[in-house]
Amino acid sequence: MSTTLDLNAQLEKYAELIVRVGVNVQPGQPVLINGALLELAPLVRLIAEKAYEAGASDVHVDWVDEALSRLKYEKAADETFTRFPEWETIKRHEVVQNNGVVVSISAPNPDLLKGIKAERISNYQKAAGTGLREFRRAIQADRISWSVVSASTKNWATKVFPGEDEETAVAKLWEAIFQAVRLNEEDPVKAWDEHNANLHAKSDWLNEKHFAKLLYRAPGTELSVELPEKHLWVAASSVNAQGTPFMANMPTEEVFTVPNKNGVNGYVSSTKPLSYGGNIIDGFKLTFEQGRIVKVEAEQGQEILQKLVDSDEGSHYLGEVALVPHQSPISRSNVLFLNTLFDENASNHFAIGSGYAFNVKGGKEMSPEELEACGVNASITHVDFMVGSAEMDIDGVTADGNVVPVFREGNWAF
Ligand code: ZN
Ligand code: ZN
Repeated sequence: MSTTLDLNAQLEKYAELIVRVGVNVQPGQPVLINGALLELAPLVRLIAEKAYEAGASDVHVDWVDEALSRLKYEKAADETFTRFPEWETIKRHEVVQNNGVVVSISAPNPDLLKGIKAERISNYQKAAGTGLREFRRAIQADRISWSVVSASTKNWATKVFPGEDEETAVAKLWEAIFQAVRLNEEDPVKAWDEHNANLHAKSDWLNEKHFAKLLYRAPGTELSVELPEKHLWVAASSVNAQGTPFMANMPTEEVFTVPNKNGVNGYVSSTKPLSYGGNIIDGFKLTFEQGRIVKVEAEQGQEILQKLVDSDEGSHYLGEVALVPHQSPISRSNVLFLNTLFDENASNHFAIGSGYAFNVKGGKEMSPEELEACGVNASITHVDFMVGSAEMDIDGVTADGNVVPVFREGNWAF
């Protein structure tokens, strides 16, 4: 168990890692911090301090109070959920224009909106997705540095460790987060350099093989996923339009690319619950015909999942195919995080919705039409869901029909 004193020292190291390795703040850059729960003020202030020390021109924090968020869903008028404030759009636009960086703290209470009408949630997801369309494009083309990180909170930690009292649960979740982001290594920055090189070795191999499609087999899964001719496997560090490297997710264990939006056939079953829009979706199966989701079945959260798939036309297709060994450090921790940032890095996964422009050769400079022509899906949403297990085999098939094992029993086959 860590004492408060230890925690403060750890938080300072963590803030440093987020600023130096995560968004890699450069002198003169404005910084936007999203998802800053009030409870996380000590961490948020440290991130701001480290950012100023790195030369940030300004740090703007969007504070979030979950009690107020819940209150809004309970009490506000229906129309509120169909609009996304324009000033929220403009704020982000300015960050992109000024080559700023964005830190997003993802620590939602998985049950925050339990019992709220599904329509309110999906309306707001849709409104926000539309209002943030341009911003999402900028992010998905790596125009600016961005990083999604996490932090332990009472509401989340007590869901992850239900048998523990609040204080112990929060401490245990911090410990799991610090472990996952390699903060306990002697030199975390160096540990990230090595991790980055290891993941890049996997993406290099996949890029060299240049598979035309992947075949997935597991209980409840029989799926064929075509890859675009110009697809690129990407992992770990990215480079923004200014040429500055950054780490878009911390932790990150995935190697991922974009599927050909019309080339997905068969069915796939989830292997972990999906925390989405303040609700849990669990035990679900999606069936595809020529890329389109034609059937949605879920043991829990069917209505929310159906509404997610119905967000727009693009949300009926996949935008990401990601490979993560079942033996990743996060899955070895045996903690079910109920937070996609962690669970997706413990499991093979796909994403419903838009694809990343940087996942095709030359994609960062392509227009939306050109990306579409390459097979890259466009949507107002992008939601990862987990399908990996110790029983999953994946083969890669080259254009001339060679079949190469990529995954065996949940882990890399090479
Ligand atoms: Zn992913
Ligand atoms: Zn994703």
